[in-house]
Amino acid sequence: MEDAKRYWSKGLEDVPAYVPGEQPRGEGWIKLNTNENPYGPSPKALEAAREALGDRLRRYPEPSGRVVRDAVSDVYGVDARDVFTGNGSDEILAFAFRAFFDQGSPILFPDVTYSFYPIWARAFSLPFRTVPLREDFSLDPEDYVGDVGGIIFPNPNAPTARALELGAVERILSRNPARLVLVDEAYIDFGGRTAVPLTKRFPNLLVVHTLSKSRSLAGLRAAFAVGSPGLVAALERVRDWYNSYTLDSIAQAAAAAAIRDVEWTGGISRKIQSTRDRFAAELSLQGWSVVPSSANFVFAAHPRLSSTELQASLRERRILVRAFSGPRLERHARISIGTDAEMDEVAKVVRSL
Ligand SMILES: *Cc1c(COP(=O)(O)O)cnc(C)c1O
Repeated sequence: MEDAKRYWSKGLEDVPAYVPGEQPRGEGWIKLNTNENPYGPSPKALEAAREALGDRLRRYPEPSGRVVRDAVSDVYGVDARDVFTGNGSDEILAFAFRAFFDQGSPILFPDVTYSFYPIWARAFSLPFRTVPLREDFSLDPEDYVGDVGGIIFPNPNAPTARALELGAVERILSRNPARLVLVDEAYIDFGGRTAVPLTKRFPNLLVVHTLSKSRSLAGLRAAFAVGSPGLVAALERVRDWYNSYTLDSIAQAAAAAAIRDVEWTGGISRKIQSTRDRFAAELSLQGWSVVPSSANFVFAAHPRLSSTELQASLRERRILVRAFSGPRLERHARISIGTDAEMDEVAKVVRSL
């Protein structure tokens, strides 16, 4: 291995490796470490995937994800030309870093946020500056001014679960008209308000959605972004350097059906929100400090244990959660919301620690 590193390109080793959440082997785990949905995807999406399985797989898929763009257009009331599709939102975000941010001024994002952002900035040799969240982990829109090369943040933020009001998103957009502002709405369906309608008024806004969380299709790898046709064109350019057919035909069919099944998404999202609120209240009762959540996970600090200690004790009971380290985070764990039965079990176990 060390020997082969002489063949690596310059700088490759300096880009920190992203560490995905643990995938347990065997049965009986309560897996609350990667914000997956505890309920299945829309039956209509599964049916559409089955229908796409056939002789037509001989052919390359339609490159732009036309059926997905039409579904987004109908459900969100935007033009299909304003929609870009991708093989998971991680792919769209990576393309966007390359397409919109440059070497000149730093990209701004919160100090506590999705751990992939600094990796992409480093991978594409882009300068960035992290902006500290307030003490309560909320984002202050007034901080996003000055020497700005571009802005990205999740709404609701991850791992804090806190949502930003649309008015605050709008302030960031109007203060930075010459810079691309990317709002990563991976968790928007669990209680936030989407900025998609703002794309009509703000040519500097790109909103990215994934089907991995509220649509329960993490295994399918499908996502979309909404922004002006000029932004979509930039993303298409970068995409075509790597792979012109990012979304396969099965994924396109299933994703389109899942997006159209708003009733299913709404139903499971409401169920998760009610489980979340009950679980958060239970943790507060047990003395935890819980950040108000608008997502399908809670970010909470145990009264005594560090999050790595908590993670280890829970792991012994076959419960997986995500731990954090660093000055403001060492007591905070991120716990995804599972079924009521799973969260009751977790509440029982943590009470006994
Ligand atoms: C889960 C997540 C994504 C990525 O999801 P994909 O599965 O790649 O679509 C993007 N951003 C944030 C903040 C996430 O938590």
